[in-house]
Amino acid sequence: MTSDDAKKTLASYLVGRRVKDAELREAVDAVASDAEYAEHVRRELGLHDDWVTECDVFRARLDELAEMSASDQQQKLPDLARHLRTCPACQRMFWRVRSTWSEDAATEPGSAVARTLVDPVAVSVGSGGKLGLSAQSRPCEEQVPLAMAARAGVPEGAPFEPECWREWTLADPDAAIEITLLVVGQPTGEPAISCRVTTADGSPVDPDQVRLTVRDAAADEVFTAGPLSMFEGGPVVLAPGPWLLCVEWTAEEPPRRWTIPLELERGSDDG
Ligand SMILES: [Zn+2]
Repeated sequence: MTSDDAKKTLASYLVGRRVKDAELREAVDAVASDAEYAEHVRRELGLHDDWVTECDVFRARLDELAEMSASDQQQKLPDLARHLRTCPACQRMFWRVRSTWSEDAATEPGSAVARTLVDPVAVSVGSGGKLGLSAQSRPCEEQVPLAMAARAGVPEGAPFEPECWREWTLADPDAAIEITLLVVGQPTGEPAISCRVTTADGSPVDPDQVRLTVRDAAADEVFTAGPLSMFEGGPVVLAPGPWLLCVEWTAEEPPRRWTIPLELERGSDDG
């Protein structure tokens, strides 16, 4: 790539046109030794002065980051991916624009409308059942109403410390449905999982019209499955490992299906 072509490519990128990664990298390499041009680019990006903070750079590229998978963020924008892990203010902004679901490819006509949670629910279970959130996890609700305890069918003897409870509200506005996932850490290190499905206005969906399938993602086999009403007596207790929770709503034709990747880890014992 000639220096002129490289500058054209970089100019396109700077004004927001789509440029292939490989092309961009080639262009950066081609002009790397041109100090005057490098300074010009820094000025254009607002990086010539100290008053531009990492947060400013992060926010300028927020939309782009929000469209990338976690591994792409890591690979293509490692500095900003690291900033996201460490800056609570930018985290809040990121999760406000991040999509909740991605559309699964349609398998055959008439098959379920299927979506998968973009970021996994990733939890570590520490001593006494205290739960921690892994860096790549979708954030949970700030507070779990303890009144949920009564409704969740949590096993006898489960701890009641707030640190042992985490809840996610996963809304799908297109279906006017909300899935609430509750994870309760237990001293055994095997958390109890339960889920509820409500309509957008908060009224419960008939638990006989919702089917829950829990798949062991490592072994690629069904661990347990049945209508949600079957799990009302007691939640599902899962060992550490990768799982897929599949919630299917059969009241509509074609049915709707949501897949929630769930990653459970044993946390360090210092609690
Ligand atoms: Zn920040």
